[in-house]
Amino acid sequence: MLTSIVGINWGDEGKGRMVDLLSKDFDIVCRYQGGNNAGHTVINERGKFILNLLPSGILREGVVCVMGPGMVIDIKHLAGEMARLREAGIRISPENLKISDRAVITMPYNVLQDCLEEERLADKKFGSTKRGIAPVYADKYLKKAFRMGELKNMALLKKRVPDIVEWKNLTIANAYGAEAVKTEDVIAYFEEYGAPLTEYICDTGLYLNAAHKAGKKIMLEAQLGALRDIDYGIYPYTSSSNNIAAYGPIGAGVPNLKLDKTIGIMKAYSSCVGEGPFTAEYFGEKAEKLRSAGGEYGAATGRPRRVGPFDVVASKYGIRCQGADEIALTKLDILSGHEELEVCVAYELNGEKITEFPFTDVLDECKPVFEKVKGWNCDISKCRKKEELPKEALDYIRMLEKACECKIRYVSVGAERDAYIEL
Ligand code: GDP
Repeated sequence: MLTSIVGINWGDEGKGRMVDLLSKDFDIVCRYQGGNNAGHTVINERGKFILNLLPSGILREGVVCVMGPGMVIDIKHLAGEMARLREAGIRISPENLKISDRAVITMPYNVLQDCLEEERLADKKFGSTKRGIAPVYADKYLKKAFRMGELKNMALLKKRVPDIVEWKNLTIANAYGAEAVKTEDVIAYFEEYGAPLTEYICDTGLYLNAAHKAGKKIMLEAQLGALRDIDYGIYPYTSSSNNIAAYGPIGAGVPNLKLDKTIGIMKAYSSCVGEGPFTAEYFGEKAEKLRSAGGEYGAATGRPRRVGPFDVVASKYGIRCQGADEIALTKLDILSGHEELEVCVAYELNGEKITEFPFTDVLDECKPVFEKVKGWNCDISKCRKKEELPKEALDYIRMLEKACECKIRYVSVGAERDAYIEL
């Protein structure tokens, strides 16, 4: 069985937390796109963990984690992440971690390129996480990247390095005027951080197909949300890969398999990190209150996130892009303590109300149309059953369900593993 767990909004919906919870029913958890620009926060009985590259399933004994061919992997960052988890007593071995030979290696010069470009853009910058993600995906499609499988044949890999370095310096040294990349540094980097990973590298497609045939349950874990998908998101304020569910089987290494189910993770309000159109945005005191209640600061970067009320227009679009079969609604507890809550139910464009998410350029001219609903004044973080929720909270859930035309199955009311309600 193949299930994908994906974000409906702009990312930071609490995917890591839901994957950690739902992974109890899975044998394998696979990340299928993106790199260490992700920051999944997971809190469970073993502690608090921030995962950037490793699938969130790594925190569960008995779950095998796969890093698929759709990923870009910063091998130095991965070494650090593995070391930190091991210090906390998490077991990581080739038995429970398999890295695709086809995944691309994010190079230090990609990170440098990312920083140089943000510097060049100055006040016109995009708000890149500066982890080299856009440059490394660009290299991949230019067919100038290194792949994980190459680390297994260091002699051959070393032969490719000088040509790539020469080409990369056309940008780094000649265009940006930065210090040139050196062949010997690149080779030393591969030897230091790549060589120890070779025992984890394999054809993850073969592994996953065999596991699927044997009846294992496989979860595909997305990074970021639908609105950051390179094709369907708010381009150019997107990530550099496809994060939507339909790409999952491709990015995992099993393009031959079909998804059985897609669970969409949707936040009870909106948050968005970095630049780009964000129609329902709150400002000033209202924003500050919601931001601090929700702890909306980036896990990977610490940047304060932009926040706003739940956006039906964007979420409905996210659900459509993901083909979500059911929803896990997260962070409902954050909305406690308000007499009234606002929901963005439509956008106003040129004096007209629209309810379908428009093309990115048009978004800049859209104004939010808010509807007020009744809030609840009590703490709901201890609720574990539907019946324990105040009527207003249940009404809020039902309203979102109806407006978004998708069944809400789980409601998360806290960051801890057991703080959720199954409806
Ligand atoms: P992800 O990238 O989608 O995994 O999301 P992040 O990890 O960046 O952000 C989610 C944050 O909210 C994390 O700090 C979680 O521990 C926390 N979180 C997740 N679900 C809930 C919830 O239902 N209630 C509260 N209060 N916090 C939550």
